[in-house]
Amino acid sequence: QAKLDGKNCIKFYDESLKEDIRNRLDMLKKLRKSIENQEFSLYYQPKVDTKTGKCVGAEALIRWIDADGNMIGPDQFIPLAEDTGLIVQIGEWVLEEACSQLVRWHKLGFDDLTIAINISGRQLQHPELIDHVTDAQTRNQLDPKFIELELTEQVFIENIDSSKAFMHGVREKGFSLSIDDFGVGYSSLSYLKHFPVDTIKIDRSFVRNLPHDQDDVHLVNTIINLAHNMGLKLVAEGIEDIKQLEFLAHKDCHIAQGFFFSKPIPGDEFTKFLLSMNGNFTPSIISNMTS
Ligand code: C2E
Ligand code: MG
Ligand code: MG
Ligand code: MG
Repeated sequence: QAKLDGKNCIKFYDESLKEDIRNRLDMLKKLRKSIENQEFSLYYQPKVDTKTGKCVGAEALIRWIDADGNMIGPDQFIPLAEDTGLIVQIGEWVLEEACSQLVRWHKLGFDDLTIAINISGRQLQHPELIDHVTDAQTRNQLDPKFIELELTEQVFIENIDSSKAFMHGVREKGFSLSIDDFGVGYSSLSYLKHFPVDTIKIDRSFVRNLPHDQDDVHLVNTIINLAHNMGLKLVAEGIEDIKQLEFLAHKDCHIAQGFFFSKPIPGDEFTKFLLSMNGNFTPSIISNMTS
């Protein structure tokens, strides 16, 4: 009996493993095609000044709209794109697309908007990453100060050597650097000393239960103090309601991002937003708050 169970067990794992591999290969085939067919699209989420309600920039977030019209989020394909190296090609497309969109907004008169672009580990390991960023910037004749690169702590810590080389390039060329999902990685704070970090982004897991969860209140206060003391800019992610926004604005967290202002939206929709509201995402709410 035991033997039989064991055998069934092995068979079960074997089948599910096979299915896993089959799914991955399927997905990989689709992903390769999607690059050829240009099925990617960039969505943008506003970053809002907590004092004025003014939109100060946008984060570019990739979406894959497959041949059947389904929208596939980055969490579902970025890992595969990383494992296979396809992320390098995808990343180059993201850089070009995001920079050219920013230029269109600048030309409409929103000429101090910044663009934030996410960079993952495999991209960081690629020795030409800094050249890819610089190429997109110069091709679009953008001042490098408008380009923010977002890297998670994890990515830094797992790639110390390539990080160092990349950071050197970032500083030399004048791009800015944000630590994404701050607080959820290993949080070895020493990299704040060694790397030219400009901004930290408080992870949304700390924001979700503000202001009623006392632990989160203490954690966020500590992160805010750290940033203020080190002269770093602060962005809070995942703002979904006015209470969270009020708490953060009151503590001088400069910039907020989240569904409260807007979900990530396509570029032309973002343009309409900018034009119709003159770059102010929530004028009435913020002015009520500060008056
Ligand atoms: P991230 O950079 O931390 O981006 C923030 C994620 O939180 C986005 O998910 C965004 O849609 C979501 N979000 C924003 N505000 C709220 C909110 O108020 N509530 C909730 N529940 N969620 C919110 P998304 O777009 O699915 O992206 C997931 C991750 O995929 C990103 O995390 C980033 O690490 C990665 N990613 C996205 N685009 C790119 C890209 O172009 N290149 C690379 N390498 N990675 C990307
Ligand atoms: Mg990000
Ligand atoms: Mg994040
Ligand atoms: Mg994230």
